[in-house]
Amino acid sequence: MSPAKAGRRTAGPRAAAADRAPAVLKRLKRAYPDARCALQHDNPYQLLVATILSAQCTDVRVNLVTPAVFARYPDPLRLSGARQEDLERLIQSTGFFRNKAKNLIAMAQAVVADHGGEIPRTMAALHALPGVGRKTANVVLGNAFGINEGVTVDTHVIRLSGLLRLTRQTDPVKIEQDLMVLVPRRDWILVSHLLILHGRQVCIARRPRCETCVLADLCPGARPAGASARKPEAPPSRR
Ligand code: SF4
Repeated sequence: MSPAKAGRRTAGPRAAAADRAPAVLKRLKRAYPDARCALQHDNPYQLLVATILSAQCTDVRVNLVTPAVFARYPDPLRLSGARQEDLERLIQSTGFFRNKAKNLIAMAQAVVADHGGEIPRTMAALHALPGVGRKTANVVLGNAFGINEGVTVDTHVIRLSGLLRLTRQTDPVKIEQDLMVLVPRRDWILVSHLLILHGRQVCIARRPRCETCVLADLCPGARPAGASARKPEAPPSRR
């Protein structure tokens, strides 16, 4: 196939996504004017700890656990000297607690050793910390430092950006790259808050409320009227 033909084949969906994205963003901003990070925190250190704890865990559960963690370990220096068993006891209910405790202590030790106890404010330095991936670094940069370095791609963002055909990718890094092209930089952090809220409240996995969704007429993944109602509440795989 000639490059020209290949180009024509992919231009359609990308152009459609570029047309759709501004309207999606506008409507979600109107629907969720107070969208912001749901993890409670007072400083970058607390947000970094909370975000590491939020892996495979709800924000509500993390918010129940973090007050005791922050009281006992108020800064990276105190956390760097934590006994792993003590930290594990405090964070047990967030799941994967042994690994999280190990990463949190190693992260704090690296912050103390390499950054004078201050949470770094660049993607490269954050990403180099133990237990910190690009998603966590984006959360901290965007919400604690106001730096729009990228788009946070979590499970809701993956699902909704696919349903809305803002991307055809399934890999989070490639999804992020697509969203960074479609969304103005000033909204990179906000767009993930908006998609996450919409995914929790309306576009719920396995039972999206398309009939009441503000994006229904824009959404290629919308179900026809009545389809949601016919869908069983509990799929066979659920207990
Ligand atoms: S129309 Fe349906 S599938 Fe599309 S975003 Fe809304 S709830 Fe989700």
